[in-house]
Amino acid sequence: MSSSLRFQVVGEAFKKHPVAVATPAERPSSFFGKYVFNRKKMEKYLPPQVYAKMLAVMDGGATLDLPTADIVAEGMKRWAMELGVTHITHWFQPLTEGTAEKHDGFVVHDGKGGMVEEFTGKQLVQQEPDASSFPSGGIRSTFEARGYSAWDPASPVFVIGDTLMIPTVFIAYTGEALDYKAPLKKALHAVDIAATAVAQLFYPDVKKVISNLGWEQEYFLVDEGLYAARPDLLMTGRTLMGHDSAKNQQMDDHYFGSIPERVAAFMRDLEIQALELGIPCKTRHNEAAPNQFELAPIFEETNLAVDHNMLLMMLMKKVARHHGFRCLLHEKPFSGINGSGKHNNWSLMTDTGVLLHGPGRTQTDNLRFITFIVETLVAVHRHNGLLKASIASAANAHRLGAHEAPPAIISSFLGAQLSEVLDHLEKSTDNAITLDSKHELRLDIPQIPELLIDNTDRNRTSPFAFTGNRFEFRAVGAEANCASAMIALNAAVAEALMDFRARVDKLTAAGTDVMSAVLRLVREDIAACRAIRFDGNGYSDEWVREAARRGLDTESSVPLIFDNYLSPESIEMFARTHVFERKELEARNEIKWDTYTKKIQIEARIFGDLCINHIVPVATRYQSQLIDSVHKMLDIFDRDKAQQLSANNVSLIEQIAEHTSYITANVERLIDARRVANRIEDVRSRAIAYHDTVAPLIEDIRRHVDKLELIVDDELWPLPKYRELLFIR
Ligand code: ADP
Ligand code: MG
Repeated sequence: MSSSLRFQVVGEAFKKHPVAVATPAERPSSFFGKYVFNRKKMEKYLPPQVYAKMLAVMDGGATLDLPTADIVAEGMKRWAMELGVTHITHWFQPLTEGTAEKHDGFVVHDGKGGMVEEFTGKQLVQQEPDASSFPSGGIRSTFEARGYSAWDPASPVFVIGDTLMIPTVFIAYTGEALDYKAPLKKALHAVDIAATAVAQLFYPDVKKVISNLGWEQEYFLVDEGLYAARPDLLMTGRTLMGHDSAKNQQMDDHYFGSIPERVAAFMRDLEIQALELGIPCKTRHNEAAPNQFELAPIFEETNLAVDHNMLLMMLMKKVARHHGFRCLLHEKPFSGINGSGKHNNWSLMTDTGVLLHGPGRTQTDNLRFITFIVETLVAVHRHNGLLKASIASAANAHRLGAHEAPPAIISSFLGAQLSEVLDHLEKSTDNAITLDSKHELRLDIPQIPELLIDNTDRNRTSPFAFTGNRFEFRAVGAEANCASAMIALNAAVAEALMDFRARVDKLTAAGTDVMSAVLRLVREDIAACRAIRFDGNGYSDEWVREAARRGLDTESSVPLIFDNYLSPESIEMFARTHVFERKELEARNEIKWDTYTKKIQIEARIFGDLCINHIVPVATRYQSQLIDSVHKMLDIFDRDKAQQLSANNVSLIEQIAEHTSYITANVERLIDARRVANRIEDVRSRAIAYHDTVAPLIEDIRRHVDKLELIVDDELWPLPKYRELLFIR
């Protein structure tokens, strides 16, 4: 794309999208949740006894009976129709990325030749979307089952445009989950039960434990016109070629810099729409790479937080287009600069308001704090391979281990202060516990301040860092459904806490008092999970060797990382926590392998097309111009002089020839590698072949394309370059 054309494209975008700032008339607090059927609206639109039933369903986990659902649906319909709603859809999270919906009108025949708006409890509670077009990893063909979607009352319904959106789980008729929400709810239930049992050792009045999630969503914005001129971005969400821009992030001047005006307008618009949908947006800023930004809400209960993240990603893509941008959520849209992740801040909290991963004022609080920290580490240690599998994908592979946040080994950073406490506790032998006059525990634990002073996440290389009153799982990909990581983490922690409580009970049954039992077991566990703690540089090569010595999973091939889901420990853990049965894990892995293959396959295809139809012809055309010039020199100068003056061009002609012939020959090899891989029947082996033979060839050929970009006349180069994609805003 020539410079003048590029200029025109961008100019158009600015003309079409002048920086018009949508300013809400009111304050955020007044329109927050405007389009959500939240408790306030339930109270207004439902009869009191039905509202009370809904509270029991939402808070207590009671099931909703159909007659009640009918009345709830009627109230919802009344509210929604006041907002101009005409359609409803069940909104679910299939095992592809993103969400799925199928809209149905409210209307039914009235029997007199007319129509009437109707919305029944049955429609609210359960539907049967045609499941055959969603991935099921063979569950449906094997079990001849249809799928159905069922309302999740823990996540309120909301309105987008003319449609009432109903968050649902998506399940096969035989009961297997075909989505992310169903197993997430099971994992959250498991961690609730297990954590409550452990929390009660310290605080007998605890009845429930809630899992919290605060995600931080990173993304890139790219001018819409430039985006349209990059077939690779259009088809795969990332650039498959492109030389580094002369300037990128080396000045460190983008992070927390002032937000460009068109971007600021986008952010304001996005936040207003997100707040209206009940997403508690709080933080926005520039990220490390040029044209990279971040949005973070206030943390919420994990199930709701996941829905809100899915909804936000949908909104981001939509709102970006109103501002002449495209929003890139891909984990690695550009090589050579940071990719995008989604830190998952996670903690457990009791119904009485105690943050179980935060220190408190008393010694009891502190023993509870240490117990939950250590049992989380036990879980992360035992299932480090699985946790990595939970965030692994073809796209996230470009981020992990690529010398930017986080390495492809799961370890946990605790900070000097907390590490010292654990080390001290492990070594101390004083098991005596005394109660002081106020029944306060006296433990041989150094004082832990309520605000840990070095609780910072200074170690940016750690994939699972303790940050004061929560853990931050930083390996999650920007485009991923957080549920995948949250299912693995909450289920693994549930298992560790189940075991912990059982071991405490065994000791107390034998006569040990509760706190002494807790102390002894915590001490044992600190020693047992030592290998997962690592505060050093996660990017260093020594760490890879050291981690292998410690027995941590260091595998970096995504198809092989997925094997962790089918390890005996994972199968047992998911069975004990009732999150997945073995056949579900097998089915889901089939989908993972197949998705991996398809992603690389699409990249390889579009990359080959670009090479052959865009890059090589243009390079050859420039080469002909150079050859012409060399010939014409002979018309003007004598042979020696002409040769001398053309030496540089002759060298360029040669370089172009070398690169183009390399590219042409290797695109052929790429096609062959695909052909060979495609013939492999077994889905896992096929993914491995794509990983081992197809993906590396793309990277290899790319280097030659990027060299040509430096040589060929800018006027002829067919694609917008990194400098335009990253600096036009
Ligand atoms: P950072 O310094 O990593 O950018 P922030 O203070 O911006 O961190 O918080 C990031 C996210 O962590 C926010 O969504 C915030 O609400 C969430 N968060 C804070 N405390 C907790 C907690 N105890 N449990 C879960 N999430 C939390
Ligand atoms: Mg963070």
